[in-house]
Amino acid sequence: QAFSTLNLKPELLENLTTMCYESMTQIQAESLPPILAGDDVIGQGKTGSGKTAAFGLGLLNKLEVKRFRIQTLVLCPTRELADQVAKEIRTLARGIHNIKVLTLCGGVPMGPQIGSLEHGAHIIVGTPGRIIDHLDRNRLDLSHVNMLVLDEADRMLEMGFQEHLDAIIEQTPHERQTLLFSATFPEQIKSIAERIMYKPVMVKV
Ligand code: AMP
Repeated sequence: QAFSTLNLKPELLENLTTMCYESMTQIQAESLPPILAGDDVIGQGKTGSGKTAAFGLGLLNKLEVKRFRIQTLVLCPTRELADQVAKEIRTLARGIHNIKVLTLCGGVPMGPQIGSLEHGAHIIVGTPGRIIDHLDRNRLDLSHVNMLVLDEADRMLEMGFQEHLDAIIEQTPHERQTLLFSATFPEQIKSIAERIMYKPVMVKV
């Protein structure tokens, strides 16, 4: 199925053509229609399924570049994954000018991150620990987030991030769209989904 069948912004569709993304992967074909309709979506998909482009296109289609506020928060278990996700979002966003994607991960100095936060961003991609550090220091305002993505949620819980996740999500508005991706579905994931999501659509590939 072609991306052109979706109701995506023309600049996103044009850029997909230059990226040589022609047809959607299964998780994209099944998750993008509900994501673009504004529904909460739980996607069961591993690395290699194309899940990053699924939520990346969803969040970029929703974003209003003229509102220079943090509108999207993507949480990842590791810095490596966060860097990979941020890279893919930047590539998908090439047709949209002046979009700012900021990664906030541990293991790198605080100073430059603080400076970048002062300059502002539309999209934050980060790991829970470092996001909490910035929230605790009142350097991160999540009050305009309308899209929250939990990527590899099972790994984040395995790593013991449950409390951090709860504290971060509490800082985002209740009126938001939430997407959760996970390779597995243990009880802990079902329970967090019940707490933070509204009538989620399940997509399994
Ligand atoms: P992911 O599962 O998100 O890690 O993506 C796996 C790889 O597939 C990445 O290198 C993507 O750039 C690529 N990819 C994702 N969606 C498509 C698509 N529809 N057509 C071609 N390549 C894709």
